[in-house]
Amino acid sequence: MSLRQTLARIAAAAAFVMFVSLEQPGGYATFPDQWPNGTTVTMHMQLGGGSGTLIDGSTSWNQAATTALSTWNNHIDLVKFGAVQDSTSPIGDRNGVNNVVFDSTIFGEAFPSDTVALANWWISRGTLVEANITFNTAFSWNSYRGPLRRSGGRTVYDIVRVTLHEAGHVLGLDHPDENRQSVSALMNSTISDLDALTADDIAGGRALYGGGVASNITFPPRNEPNDFFNQLIALYRDRLGEGQVTTYVDPEGAVVWLSEYARYRVGLCDHATAQTRVFSQIDNTGTYGVCALTPAGTIPFPPRDEGLQFMLALDAKYRDDLRRTATTSFVNNEGAVVWVLEYFRYRLNRCNHADATTRVFQQILGQGIQPTC
Ligand SMILES: [Zn+2]
Repeated sequence: MSLRQTLARIAAAAAFVMFVSLEQPGGYATFPDQWPNGTTVTMHMQLGGGSGTLIDGSTSWNQAATTALSTWNNHIDLVKFGAVQDSTSPIGDRNGVNNVVFDSTIFGEAFPSDTVALANWWISRGTLVEANITFNTAFSWNSYRGPLRRSGGRTVYDIVRVTLHEAGHVLGLDHPDENRQSVSALMNSTISDLDALTADDIAGGRALYGGGVASNITFPPRNEPNDFFNQLIALYRDRLGEGQVTTYVDPEGAVVWLSEYARYRVGLCDHATAQTRVFSQIDNTGTYGVCALTPAGTIPFPPRDEGLQFMLALDAKYRDDLRRTATTSFVNNEGAVVWVLEYFRYRLNRCNHADATTRVFQQILGQGIQPTC
């Protein structure tokens, strides 16, 4: 590599930072240098085999860690992570390859004490040119969400949240708690029960690389779609004579998260991005911008099959991640997603609450798709 490396910095998952970083009013802290806009930061996933099936169902370390890189990608625009699975590229420091590895040392140097993982990087002419992540084999690892687990008297570290943290360093984020900030952040210096990026972490990533467009579409106040859904339940029960079905998402949850899914979709996010952002909201209360401004004219809505995929994933998330107990409803998941999205389609295309409700019910009762208002 012909670039001249002028400086190396190290930041670790435990307290260890060599350089004072810039303080930001939002809580997050950044290092002075970043990747040039437009860069794909290609990480070579070289964590090796032998993981077996991990607690969250991941079948390899590389697969689990890559989800963390994808999560960052969902929140930043001007730089993106790439991942080469099971890469056979050379492993070494200052070799131009971004290695992600397990090791007992950092390219031959001892880990600082109590450091579970470490990102190190190289800078040339004021921009980042190489970054590596090394997970310390002196600690126990798995992949899971929720509070930190222990086994045999030792903490078992979650590869995903630690990768989210180290990848934040790779992007140029520092530890807020070591820069006189007190915020809920995965970028704080200690790995904890927090298992997902917070609004502050995302704000930091966006301060460096942009991302998130303020939606130009106004959704109706929540009480109105809630009222629609209650009327929908009554219609299914009383007019259609539907029996009860099992679901894990309560009516308010269905309305609020379908509303957010629709907000991202009409903001031109694809299905996967919209779902990831909604699930991030469910996990940590952040609210994110949309992917692009909605063009003028009739507002586009996602196809039914993608809406249904989202609803089924939401149901599984309520069951598996949020550990909600089963409940019953007269409206099955498919009915919920199809008709709530139709309600929003009429609302966003100029119908008021009563007109949108009437039009959806006409559709349900076999009178065909109604004109917008
Ligand atoms: Zn750190």
